[in-house]
Amino acid sequence: MKVLVINAGSSSLKYQLINVDNGEVIAKGLCERIGIEGSMLTYKPEGKGKFEFKQDMKDHTDAIRMVLDALVDPEIGVVKSMDEIDAVGHRLVHGGEKFNKSVIITDELIKEMEVLTPLAPLHNPANLMGVRACQAIMPNTPMVGVFDTAFHQTMPPKAFLYGLPYEAYKEHMVRRYGFHGTSHMYVSQRALTKLDMPKEDTRIITCHLGNGSSISAIKGGKCVDTSMGLTPLEGVPMGTRCGDMDPAIVTYLMERLNLDKKGIDNYLNKKSGMLGISGVSSDFRDLEEAANNGNERAQLALDTFCYKVKKYIGAYAAALGGVDAIVFTAGVGENDRGVREKVLSGLEYLGVDVDFDFNNSCPRGEEVEISKPTSRVKVFVIRTDEEMMIARDTAALTAK
Ligand code: AMP
Repeated sequence: MKVLVINAGSSSLKYQLINVDNGEVIAKGLCERIGIEGSMLTYKPEGKGKFEFKQDMKDHTDAIRMVLDALVDPEIGVVKSMDEIDAVGHRLVHGGEKFNKSVIITDELIKEMEVLTPLAPLHNPANLMGVRACQAIMPNTPMVGVFDTAFHQTMPPKAFLYGLPYEAYKEHMVRRYGFHGTSHMYVSQRALTKLDMPKEDTRIITCHLGNGSSISAIKGGKCVDTSMGLTPLEGVPMGTRCGDMDPAIVTYLMERLNLDKKGIDNYLNKKSGMLGISGVSSDFRDLEEAANNGNERAQLALDTFCYKVKKYIGAYAAALGGVDAIVFTAGVGENDRGVREKVLSGLEYLGVDVDFDFNNSCPRGEEVEISKPTSRVKVFVIRTDEEMMIARDTAALTAK
């Protein structure tokens, strides 16, 4: 079964065509600058190189049309006709409390997503543009929505409630939802296959560390807590997002810096985190390089990040009543050996015994165990694959 996975942002659209039966990625790519001058489609059919097409895309419908044209192209295409695409799986960011699993996309679901738009004002409308574009061009192909928030819906109220009046939750939907759920689910499921113990007893902490970062506590395969909140701003400091802080800082800085709502939102989402602390970059590769060249603020940003990740691991070990496995994933978690070393050193008291030599030399892009064979807590580096998870869910819901 062939599933087209779509991850639509406001001006970009990532896609992958996946054969779910054998796990093969048949083609993948990206549409950039949709609705902006200089639009471009990148198309990578498996084994046939990489192609770039510069052509105006005035909206997401134009973008999807270009993607499909490339996929069915007689020379560089990978399928004979659109009919070979059995289903489309859409990454949808915010499913609120309504969606605790993936669902077939219907008009009703689109209306529900619109109700949730205030919770994800940038993401949900962009995701829906991708859905509508596919519906317009492939009206007879079934579509599935896979929510970033769904995996976290198993959190108990004590974990998802904030210390606010209960009405904030009941009337205004203010609670912890969590994000990166598809990634946390994928890597925790992979870790489960590596733990020689009954699933219901397992306690796993998954660290999705990338440009955006979140950490989850997973008991018996179900999420019981996660670091991102109502929005993806909460948790550890990220590339440009501030992460946890005293909420009073918001009004304090609005006054001191004369910022309006938009101004403070931009300050906390775009100017903070690693970029804000270091003044160098939001990219961990740049930070590592600058720190190695003696830049103290780059080093401070890295130290702050690793310290906060370590604190979450401690907190979640307490929430889970111990820990059997810690998983590192996403751009930083999979690649930045220095971050992993700094986060994991000093956790011996928890039963974490890492082979730091192997951590520094292990192959990238593979699933590896970096703890010593005798370590009570297993530490894994697992490449995340949200697209595969979306494709599998889509296939499961639409298979005839
Ligand atoms: P993601 O959001 O998962 O795509 O991750 C993006 C982040 O991963 C960026 O901050 C990159 O700097 C970081 N990253 C990617 N490759 C490496 C690497 N080899 N070493 C350190 N950080 C990396």
